[in-house]
Amino acid sequence: MSFSLIPDYSFPDICKVTPEFLKEKGIRLLLLDLDNTMAPYGTVIPTREIAEWAETVRQSGIETFILTNNNGSERVEALSKALDMGYIMGAKKPFVSGINRALDKLGFRHEETALAGDQIFTDVLAANCAGITSIIVRPIKIVNPLLNVRYWLEAPFRALCPNKM
Ligand SMILES: [Mg+2]
Repeated sequence: MSFSLIPDYSFPDICKVTPEFLKEKGIRLLLLDLDNTMAPYGTVIPTREIAEWAETVRQSGIETFILTNNNGSERVEALSKALDMGYIMGAKKPFVSGINRALDKLGFRHEETALAGDQIFTDVLAANCAGITSIIVRPIKIVNPLLNVRYWLEAPFRALCPNKM
């Protein structure tokens, strides 16, 4: 566990995170941030590309599970159902409680788990603090100035990522 804001791996988008890569790193459970990682804000249907990617990962024997800070939203339910994944809402990343709850629920160990997300200050920090592998992806869509500022603040930590894939 560490309080580092530097991701272990960085990918241009979630679909580039292949089952081969995950298996090589010993990952058996992939926790997924929802908003702007799996779907842009506001959408309730995943793109075909992301749905197919999720299916490929699952068929390879790797478990997938959504861990979102989004709270009490029908959209989370709709997207999780469409992607055929379990989920935890209100995960409170960067706190590690949501990650630990998911691991307990699904029966995986920290060393065989990764979290992929689009935000340094929530997803990456939570994963690093929990002692699981952290994967950063670029946000699908930056729709407002606030997201733009955050992305700019995150830039140094993205740049420091030792493994840009
Ligand atoms: Mg996100």
